[in-house]
Amino acid sequence: MSSPAPRPVPRKGVLAIEAYVPGKSAAPAGVKLHKLSSNETSLGPSPAVAAAVAEAVRHLELYPDGQASALKAAISERYGLSPRNIICGNGSDELLTLLASTYLEPGTEGIHTSHGFLLHRTAILAAGAEAVEAPETDATIDVDAILSRVTDRTRLVFIANPGNPTGTYIPFSEVRRLHEGLPRHVLLVLDAAYAEYVRKNDYEAGIELVATSPNVVMTRTFSKIHGLAALRVGWMYAPEAVADAVERIRGPFNLNAVGIAAAAAALRDGAHVERTVEHNRLWLDRLTAEFEALGLRITPSVTNFLLIHFAGTEGRTAAAADAFLTSRGFILRNVKGYGFPNALRMTIGSEEANLGVVAALAEFMGGRS
Ligand SMILES: *Cc1c(COP(=O)(O)O)cnc(C)c1O
Repeated sequence: MSSPAPRPVPRKGVLAIEAYVPGKSAAPAGVKLHKLSSNETSLGPSPAVAAAVAEAVRHLELYPDGQASALKAAISERYGLSPRNIICGNGSDELLTLLASTYLEPGTEGIHTSHGFLLHRTAILAAGAEAVEAPETDATIDVDAILSRVTDRTRLVFIANPGNPTGTYIPFSEVRRLHEGLPRHVLLVLDAAYAEYVRKNDYEAGIELVATSPNVVMTRTFSKIHGLAALRVGWMYAPEAVADAVERIRGPFNLNAVGIAAAAAALRDGAHVERTVEHNRLWLDRLTAEFEALGLRITPSVTNFLLIHFAGTEGRTAAAADAFLTSRGFILRNVKGYGFPNALRMTIGSEEANLGVVAALAEFMGGRS
């Protein structure tokens, strides 16, 4: 027998995972901070959330409802879904991880896309499976690239539609084509974290496809348009057999009572969601035009963030722009880890923040005095 290791050894694959680095959130002393690095909403949550939270904190000694029934009821009401097909999570991150650990194991493969959400890859590796990367084309999901990577070991495919950090989407006809090309035992996970922001006739988050297929799941989050990132709430819509399997490994009290109450209240305030969509739509168009006028290339976005590409020559690199913007208090996201060494991702913020970034980038691009 070989001699025992001197300390506990993590399961194979765990140390191959790169720890997630969240968006920066610090500005130099004395400079007003505008955090535009994590796709949070500048409008905050619905005003109705404060009252729901105040009520929920009155009984912190009690365990939360492990079924999150009040939240499932709000989701059923809003989307017309049966609560039996809904599972709520501690952020949609938890649900993506639960799905991977339910369907993957060593010797199997999970597919993610090249610029896809980093957590997709992490969830696959954490489950002990092999992570297979499908390249994107023009920063957009490429269905054929995914299908050509399916093997007899593939068990799960993750796509973020729209994508993060790209902000692009594929029309629903393409999602259907992907689904039709997959063997029926492969689970297709549609991560629709930005669905509410999309205003395109050919986009669908996937509710109908889940309803009519045994192997499709859609995940959603309260962290983005609903402005509840701090409380960690997400949900998924899944076929009953998938929901039943995931229920077996879900922590019994994975959501807290404050999050459940806040999310239900947020979902019922449709007017606040509409205001947020409208703010976003105006600034998406305006910022895209302003940045293009400065000679920057922008990946067309349907979300609440923009991928800004720098030429990389004459000092106009993403790293230099990042340092310049940070010195002015504008914190954008470095997306090197997502395969874009010369781009920054900017979350659409308040009017003040948006105009501030335009002015700062104009100065940066002009070669500052
Ligand atoms: C932000 C984001 C999520 C995660 O959201 P949480 O619900 O906060 O865990 C999932 N997928 C994508 C693509 C995201 O950008």
